[in-house]
Amino acid sequence: MNFEEMGFTPGILKAVQELGFEQPMPVQEKVIPLMLGEDEDIIALAQTGTGKTAAFGLPLVQMTDTENNATQALILCPTRELCMQITGDLTDYARYTGKLRILAVYGGASIENQIRELKKGVHIIVATPGRLIDLIGRKAARLSSVSTVILDEADEMLNMGFLDSINEILEEVPGGRRTLLFSATMSSEIAGIAKKYMNDPKEITIGTKNASAENVTHGYYLVHSKDKYKVLKRIADSEPDIYGIVFCRTRKETQEVASSLIEDGYNADALHGDLSQAQRDTVMQKFRVRNLQLLIATDVAARGLDVDDLTHVINYNLPDDNEVYTHRSGRTGRAGKKGISISLISPRDKNNIKQIERIVKKPFKAIQIPSGSEICGKQLFHWVKKLETVVTEHQEIEKFLPEITAKLSNLDREELLRRVVSLEFDRFLDDYRSGEEIISPRDRDDNFRGSDKKGSRKEYSGNYKRLFINLGKTDGFYPEQLIELVNRNTSGRKIPLGKIDLLKTFSFFEVESEFADYLINALNNAKFNDRRVAVEIAQEKPEGHREADRSGKRSAKWSDRRPEKRKGDKKGHAGKVLKWDKKSGKKNKKKKYR
Ligand code: AMP
Repeated sequence: MNFEEMGFTPGILKAVQELGFEQPMPVQEKVIPLMLGEDEDIIALAQTGTGKTAAFGLPLVQMTDTENNATQALILCPTRELCMQITGDLTDYARYTGKLRILAVYGGASIENQIRELKKGVHIIVATPGRLIDLIGRKAARLSSVSTVILDEADEMLNMGFLDSINEILEEVPGGRRTLLFSATMSSEIAGIAKKYMNDPKEITIGTKNASAENVTHGYYLVHSKDKYKVLKRIADSEPDIYGIVFCRTRKETQEVASSLIEDGYNADALHGDLSQAQRDTVMQKFRVRNLQLLIATDVAARGLDVDDLTHVINYNLPDDNEVYTHRSGRTGRAGKKGISISLISPRDKNNIKQIERIVKKPFKAIQIPSGSEICGKQLFHWVKKLETVVTEHQEIEKFLPEITAKLSNLDREELLRRVVSLEFDRFLDDYRSGEEIISPRDRDDNFRGSDKKGSRKEYSGNYKRLFINLGKTDGFYPEQLIELVNRNTSGRKIPLGKIDLLKTFSFFEVESEFADYLINALNNAKFNDRRVAVEIAQEKPEGHREADRSGKRSAKWSDRRPEKRKGDKKGHAGKVLKWDKKSGKKNKKKKYR
């Protein structure tokens, strides 16, 4: 059924068209015909982002008699933000339908102004429960003519402790009314309200209760806590168009992360309960109009914020309550767009991830921390795209062009580009120049590089083999280059790597045992900067080298073992690798590496 067939008046249809709604969303398909056609009470299990405001709002606007000055409908919702949002949406729907008066009443704003507006006569009141109780107490809000009550985000209202207020308000509304209840979840308290105040309600569930969840993918980075902030920066750097909320656990952490990001030049700000209402409003508005790309927030402070096109939700910490995770992740992937919910976790959090996987009914993908070179690449190509599409019709520039051209005439096209790029990418090139990479903690019960190709999890043995490779730091060989080399030569297969020890002219790294032979074969045919790569199983280390190895620091003996000693290697590189531990002679008694 389309909007035309639903029985809307031309005025509503015109507004719907102007809003760009082409087809009704599932919640609208179910709720609108019931609202326009029947008298039944309705419980709709639907989350924000599913189009529920229009589902109740469009019929409500159509059904309201603007000739009658009395308040005919009451919408209760948990936050001031949502209150304003619903009011704004209803006002949009009512653009062509006479003089409909809709008023938002919520705490934290002047009650006198609200009383004044109420006195003028209001057809629909959109209210937070606390403030409405106040207004009823002052006899400013009169609910005796209300025939429709909508409880929006009822579960949130209960979470916020509004049960008594809701009960008190519903007692004020005449018995013959119609009640609609929207909630993301069905709990015993919701069922209690339904039983007490609703008349044989019809229950509607929208898809998986969270239609947006289909568009959300879930991923995690395994991160040492000391590296969390750096990884967050890498995520932001590798997604130049990111528009997301970073959820932190405490106000203090929220402020710290936001302050660091601001200091480091990111377009970010904090939203938490230590800010005044005015400050919170300013931050939310800046975020809503995309003047901010990253909002660092606590769950409570972000509750009222409703933004549709977030690209990312980032869980700087997993929430204590797994249900909260679904609320957070449901903020992305809305209105038909794709979104990703990313968590920064330690190996200890893996159990929580498994529990959450069961709740969201989707697997989490382990994501590799982007390397410096990947990030630089993404930034560069993002910039190239901007360069390709920039509009250059500025008269001001034209005027100076001949002189600029003359001044730069000694630079050829390539050199000119190189310089412009260096200027543009100062920060990134500086940040990532060292080639130092962030290494994930070892994930004992899974492969830290994540799922296999099809996205399903594969359990690995957790046994690693240590390999020798004839490349080291002086060759510009760092973890990032190793990983690239492995990826390039293993046709997209995910090869679980372990500890990496980089030395001056050669290195060691661990690989899951079952992949060792395959990887040796693959890499021994490979080239790195025109050099032939040689890889083989490292011999076990003699006693006494253990500590140096474990600490990850270079052992003098190791770095002294130069590849030049290898036989059959004209330049001292290629050919068969001399066993670095030949001298120890005897077979080692104990394994040392693991
Ligand atoms: P809501 O769940 O009410 O917060 O709505 C989520 C978003 O979907 C809002 O931005 C609406 O403007 C948008 N929306 C609602 N109905 C439709 C529709 N039929 N077609 C396209 N977008 C819609």
